[in-house]
Amino acid sequence: MTGDSSHYRLATKATRTGQYQDLSDQHSEALALTSSYVFADAEDAAEKFASRRPGNVYIRFTNPTTLAFEQRIAAMEAGDDAVATGSGMAAYTAMALALLEAGDHVVLAEGIFGTTTNLFKVYLSKFGIETSTASVVDLDQWRSLVRPNTRMFVVESPTNPLMYVADLHELSLLAGEHGIVLAVDNTLSTPVFQTPLALGADLVLHSAGKYIDGQGRCGGGVVVGRQELTDKIRGVMRTVGPALSPFNAWVFLKGLETLPIRMREHSRNSSELASWLAGHRVVEHVYFTGSPDHPQARLIAKQLSGHAGLVSFTIRGGRPEAWRVIDELKLISNTTNIGDTKTMVTHPATTTHGRLSAQEKAIAGVTDNLIRLSVGFEDIHDLIADLDEALWAVGSGRTTPTKGEVR
Ligand SMILES: *Cc1c(COP(=O)(O)O)cnc(C)c1O
Repeated sequence: MTGDSSHYRLATKATRTGQYQDLSDQHSEALALTSSYVFADAEDAAEKFASRRPGNVYIRFTNPTTLAFEQRIAAMEAGDDAVATGSGMAAYTAMALALLEAGDHVVLAEGIFGTTTNLFKVYLSKFGIETSTASVVDLDQWRSLVRPNTRMFVVESPTNPLMYVADLHELSLLAGEHGIVLAVDNTLSTPVFQTPLALGADLVLHSAGKYIDGQGRCGGGVVVGRQELTDKIRGVMRTVGPALSPFNAWVFLKGLETLPIRMREHSRNSSELASWLAGHRVVEHVYFTGSPDHPQARLIAKQLSGHAGLVSFTIRGGRPEAWRVIDELKLISNTTNIGDTKTMVTHPATTTHGRLSAQEKAIAGVTDNLIRLSVGFEDIHDLIADLDEALWAVGSGRTTPTKGEVR
């Protein structure tokens, strides 16, 4: 591809925007596995070090493969620029260091990734940054929490594991009225299903090791947004140093090429599994953005064009029954990651949300009988058979469905 790619549609940007070739005329993007770069002459070195001339300086803040990944995800998320980091949490840390200072106040959405809450409440609080939390479904609560020193809203939509949705456009209007930066974690939906920047958000964050990698191989993160904001974040990268490995950047760059087709398959398999679970006797409730009885179905139809692989459900019983289901599964892996080709099961109350207090768990809706699935690409009949046997073991009395039965 030559020239500007901004007029292309998403799948074209996913495969074509952000290119890096070395000297071999290769078609697949090159991996620049190098920590330093040769300067043309002494003046070139001085100009590049002073950021007066574009180009590569040192692995901690410049790499051409990482740059290609940043350009591609920036194009897909409709942002000016992107900054890649060594993990999703490093993206949050770099964003906070760049944009917040002592005395600032941040509002976090309730029920977001537990480590994100910890970063703000345990670590950033040490540097005088105050935090409040608000429910993603209650805009009035956000409005009532705004103070003169409120600088940032941090939102995940949908939330994990209960899949509630924030009205991102309404929230961006409220943030805009008060000059507040709206940062949206788009790890779950990816730009394939929603583009928060186009809805009015200022920054988008990803844990890139989830759907962007898509096969559970690499860790990494990225923050995308307006140039004036990403420039400040890039400054933090140079000094603080949570850089992404170029190898991981290359995996993510190639992962983006298949992201649109992979997300459609995640959406198809998770939709089928969610509707099967909803009809199961042992299952109390299914939490899935595609459920017809989701309390925010209208907002979801407006805001999301598909559903990630996340399906959570509560079963009759408590922790012993939930653990029993997990231990009975033969095909589905017991691991806390999300966004892999392989289907995974998690008991949030004792793993991902285990560090939350009982009250925080109650607010997040993480009960002892809650089980979370990240649905991958196995045949849906095999996934259903595995779950059916495990659920039967805790007392459903339901027999294994005849082969081929998918409701
Ligand atoms: C995993 C995850 C993170 C943290 O990312 P890491 O890459 O594990 O540091 C943040 N937000 C969401 C929604 C996640 O799923």
